[in-house]
Amino acid sequence: MSYDIIVIGAGPAGLSAAVQARARGKTVLVVAGSDKDNALYKAQRIDNYLGLPGLTGAEMLARFSDHARENRVERRMGRVLSIMPVKDRFYVSIDADMEEAGAVILALGVSRGKKYSGEAEFLGRGVSYCATCDGALYRGKPVAVVGLSADAPEEAAFLSGLGCQVTYVAVKRPQELEEGIPFVKGVKLEIRGEKTVTALVADGEELPCDGIFLLRPSLAPTDLLPGLRVEQGYITVDRNGQTSVPGVFAAGDCTGLPLQVSKAVGEGMMAGHRAAEYLDRQRQN
Ligand SMILES: Cc1cc2nc3c(=O)[nH]c(=O)nc-3n(C[C@H](O)[C@H](O)[C@H](O)COP(=O)(O)OP(=O)(O)OC[C@H]3O[C@@H](n4cnc5c(N)ncnc54)[C@H](O)[C@@H]3O)c2cc1C
Repeated sequence: MSYDIIVIGAGPAGLSAAVQARARGKTVLVVAGSDKDNALYKAQRIDNYLGLPGLTGAEMLARFSDHARENRVERRMGRVLSIMPVKDRFYVSIDADMEEAGAVILALGVSRGKKYSGEAEFLGRGVSYCATCDGALYRGKPVAVVGLSADAPEEAAFLSGLGCQVTYVAVKRPQELEEGIPFVKGVKLEIRGEKTVTALVADGEELPCDGIFLLRPSLAPTDLLPGLRVEQGYITVDRNGQTSVPGVFAAGDCTGLPLQVSKAVGEGMMAGHRAAEYLDRQRQN
């Protein structure tokens, strides 16, 4: 489907951007992973957000989400894997699907964690970020799921259902993991292979496998949109939330310090507003 604006991220920045863009009459799709992966969801209590002291992060997030829903913001659960600019449109791949928009707002939060050794080298040659996209390639074969996001146990069950021989690797066994799926504790990980992946090494233990699904809550902004300017891991924006790519705006923790709800909401408002203006200008030209 085609939207005016696709917002990536359903934290305070993304939801604020979406509500603002709806107020300017734009169609908006918000794409995000599980709420449990959201920074705000993890906050025990927020006391410094104006007018709403004492809420838990989860309560505050639920209020923001309700507000967006009441404003007819469309929402979709999924992992955005890439953004492709083509002329004045953006094609956003969400797991195995694609959606299209005239402007994109990145409200990704902070992407933590470095790439694993071997990850970049074997990406597309055994390493995948998307179970739905690539799972069928590994039917009947051993695969490792590196569970870093809240939806990873579900994705492991999906792969197991396809017929993959799944081993789940994480710091701790998640409660949601299906009983029949073997678990291996792993903090320090390394990907090994020749032409394609041959093994995942988890804390020194070698797990032979043909595929490795690295399921993170977020990807680095430059992995989503190559060429995007970043400084010290944060997306470079001007006061309007405009990034180095025309038509792509950014807001919230992904643009830098301070990592705070008020800043995320304010920047989200600005990005939503400016993205709507950008589209209006495009239409006039
Ligand atoms: C424990 C803790 C306590 C905190 N306490 C406070 C406090 O007291 N006061 C305060 O002001 N702030 C506090 N914060 C910080 C606050 O939560 C963040 O500043 C705020 O949530 C940032 O909002 P955001 O929208 O930029 O990012 P986030 O809330 O992190 O949202 C990021 C969103 O992007 C989505 N996403 C990322 N990549 C992708 C992708 N590739 N595809 C699909 N979706 C993607 C995620 O699923 C998520 O929905 C706290 C944070 C933590 C962790």
